[in-house]
Amino acid sequence: MNTNGKSLNGEKINGHSFLNNIDLIELELNEHDFIGDNHIGTSDETPMKADAFVLSDREKMAIIEDHFRQIMDTLGLDLTDDSLKGTPKRVAKMFVKEIFSGLNPENKPSISVFDNKYKYGEMLVEKNISMSSTCEHHFLPIVGKAHVAYISSGQVIGLSKINRIVDYFARRPQVQERMTVQIANELKRVLNTEDVAVLIEAKHMCVSSRGIQDETSSTVTADYSGKFKDKYTREEFLKYVEL
Ligand SMILES: [Zn+2]
Repeated sequence: MNTNGKSLNGEKINGHSFLNNIDLIELELNEHDFIGDNHIGTSDETPMKADAFVLSDREKMAIIEDHFRQIMDTLGLDLTDDSLKGTPKRVAKMFVKEIFSGLNPENKPSISVFDNKYKYGEMLVEKNISMSSTCEHHFLPIVGKAHVAYISSGQVIGLSKINRIVDYFARRPQVQERMTVQIANELKRVLNTEDVAVLIEAKHMCVSSRGIQDETSSTVTADYSGKFKDKYTREEFLKYVEL
């Protein structure tokens, strides 16, 4: 994933911006906060260093534990306290093995496809997929739902695999727009079709609990390709997800 599309000093090298591919709708989102906090990604690829996986998970956890202990110490917390002393280790493990495990291509779900034996030719919608990610600008949670649809080109995948693809790309420091495009691109690749729709509605803790402190706004992003660019197909999808 880091072989093309990575950014060098913020400059795209594949010359293509995901912002061209998506319809971005903001529901009651304060524009000042969105723009002011620069919640705009630079590429549809997660910016990764070339040597991102030279260190083992164990080595990464040891380094992160040490750094997080320093952060807590700098904040003035007493790390000899029973309640706090295990936190640096817990945070390090949580970062590497849980909430950022989707950075490592080794953790990408392997998806087997099957022939569309039923000859089902309409759209398949998997809706209300629980999604939990992390804002890469503030390292605070993004929590919401993903709705995914595809029209089979002759192949189908197990329904739970759609949830696994969403989960894999959510387990990274993210911006919602990039995550939406990454999920759509992976589904297109796996299903060998352009006829894919992804819609995500999520709340950003960095908007609700800091900065503008707006607790009611949510952010909606969508990626429509192939037949979903057609107005009627898209409307059918939106009717199913009731958004
Ligand atoms: Zn943020």
